[in-house]
Amino acid sequence: MVIARDTQPLTADDAAIRAALEDAFLPALLPALAQATGDLSLLREELRPPGMAPAVAQGGMTPQQQEQAKALALDALRRLRDRPAHGDGRPDEENVRRIAAWMTGSDAAQDYMPLLLEELAPFGEDPRAPAWRYDGKTPFLTAIVGAGMSGILAAIRLKQAGVPFVVIEKNEDVGGTWFENTYPGARVDVSNAFYSYSFAQKIDWPKFFSPQAVLLDYFRTCADEYGVRGSIRFRTEVLSITFDEARCSWRLRLRTPDGGEETLDAQAVISAVGQLNRPNMPKIAGMNTFEGPSFHSARWDHETDLADKRVAVIGTGASAVQFVPEIAPRVAQLDVFQRTPAWFVPVPHYHDDVPAGLRWLFEHVPHYMHWYRFWLFWTTTEGLLPSATVDEGWTDFSRAVGVANDQLRMLLTAWLQAQYADRPDLFEKALPQYPPASKRVVLDNGAWAEAMKRDNVHLITEPIDEITPRGVRTKDGTEHAADVLIYGTGFQASHFLTPMRVTGRGGVDLNAQWGGDARAYLGITVPNFPSFFMMYGPNTNIVVNGSIIYFSECEVQYIVGCLRLLLEDGHRALDCKPDVHDAYNARIDAGNLKMAWGVSSVNTWYKSESGRVAQNWPFNLIEYWQQTREPNPDDYVFL
Ligand code: NAP
Repeated sequence: MVIARDTQPLTADDAAIRAALEDAFLPALLPALAQATGDLSLLREELRPPGMAPAVAQGGMTPQQQEQAKALALDALRRLRDRPAHGDGRPDEENVRRIAAWMTGSDAAQDYMPLLLEELAPFGEDPRAPAWRYDGKTPFLTAIVGAGMSGILAAIRLKQAGVPFVVIEKNEDVGGTWFENTYPGARVDVSNAFYSYSFAQKIDWPKFFSPQAVLLDYFRTCADEYGVRGSIRFRTEVLSITFDEARCSWRLRLRTPDGGEETLDAQAVISAVGQLNRPNMPKIAGMNTFEGPSFHSARWDHETDLADKRVAVIGTGASAVQFVPEIAPRVAQLDVFQRTPAWFVPVPHYHDDVPAGLRWLFEHVPHYMHWYRFWLFWTTTEGLLPSATVDEGWTDFSRAVGVANDQLRMLLTAWLQAQYADRPDLFEKALPQYPPASKRVVLDNGAWAEAMKRDNVHLITEPIDEITPRGVRTKDGTEHAADVLIYGTGFQASHFLTPMRVTGRGGVDLNAQWGGDARAYLGITVPNFPSFFMMYGPNTNIVVNGSIIYFSECEVQYIVGCLRLLLEDGHRALDCKPDVHDAYNARIDAGNLKMAWGVSSVNTWYKSESGRVAQNWPFNLIEYWQQTREPNPDDYVFL
């Protein structure tokens, strides 16, 4: 793969342009053309998309508005073709502000301008590249643990800043979750225009939501193109990380590819190990007695041929929802054991290819992909937060947490009802009895319901009693015979950083300090663990929607800022002040109690065993960006 970033010259004839426009996403095309031509009159008040709801076709533009928009777009594209020097695509910030205001229908976008100019890189640059470069005078090494999406990102930024680093990766290649999850149907559930690095925007994604192989390819390409692959030690696992107080540095104990052990000293550590990669195997009686093959979805056994087998699947979360429809047509019988149904959010184009015309436009209209990214940013992140927020005075959280959340519940109920119109028995099983957004919602184009309706598929809601040598026995005494057992039972999300053992100042063990409830300042630093930084750490998970890559970019910006503080001022390490950490976490906890996932009692990996939400960020995205732009030296003790 090559990351195609630059648009190609526009030479197509009118007929070809007209044909492409039939596939255009107009709410983002007019802004892109306004930027490319400098002609802001394209943004007519009467053509503004009425709503910013993500699932509504063309942002809710009427057919008449769409025709008018296409006519204007055709004219602008002709101008771009016939007078290519017309615009250089570098409008001033005022123009970008006006374009964003037209698209969002509000001046709210104004508050977001500095973020947008950075996040959208609307001038095709990389505004987040570190402005500072380490002079290299003092020997300094940063160990990055993990070469998944966030580890690669950290490596790229440290390389740009000239800070020496080494990446330790237990797998034989980069990619993390996209390397490990090879189950059939694995794909991203955030549109790729948003689920991609802001500085490595690709204009020719083949699908709106890429399958695993395409994403793995993307991250491999980024590691290669940005020249960090050579700094990664593959098939090497970090066993423990211990702070050496006398030397003020970290000692990492590593398992090397030959099975031996080695130590590595580093002055700073960035943990980029992810939250969702340690499979959660349930504790069900008799699990070890099952005589056939059994495996977890994240450790898919491709050697086991499922054709014509009786297969039992335990779990109905995001992973199972993706692989069940894929395997259902191949197997003889598929028993799906559901404990809690998921809320499904309609995304009809979830599996679709980017239509040829739209792809052509992305490849030929400067900044179209950026404005499309902005549309997604606006509609699928901040815009959705109110529908997960607890209303003041609302006390019954059994089905909803507020008016907007209840409206969402009705909308999603209607979607389920429509799909199971011919199967009321399945609708009853599929309808969640908890507020939407209190548990991870699942994107849906109807594939799940279609699979559930198959003659060879049975959705079983009777609780599991035990696993037997020949299948799964439910509490009603029925033994459901199976040849293969697949666990779609998720991950040990709250066991942050395990099985690594991290020991800080005074010999304190990180997990002992946490006591089962991981906390960190900004999700990044923890008192007693100097110059130890986490990416995708506690309370940095975004759940209503949005891309975790956005958070990782904020985190790495902050971490590079911390390294700069250390290296420019000649400090040996920095340690987060406990009062700063505690006040921050009190605010996070209070924030989470105002969100659906904080007040609902439904089972969810968002909560640790104590019931505290240790995973989720409760506020809007801009706030995290503001807090992580640069570290405040007053928050740290310097050693
Ligand atoms: P998950 O959402 O945690 O789902 C696990 C499933 O297993 C749930 O249905 C759970 O039931 C069930 N389960 C667990 N223990 C059980 C037991 N003892 N008996 C019966 N059922 C049991 O895990 P996941 O589906 O792997 O997804 C985890 C997260 O990874 C997602 O929320 C998402 O953030 C991410 N993910 C994303 C994608 C994507 O589309 N990009 C795909 C896969 C995963 P309960 O609900 O009752 O606990």
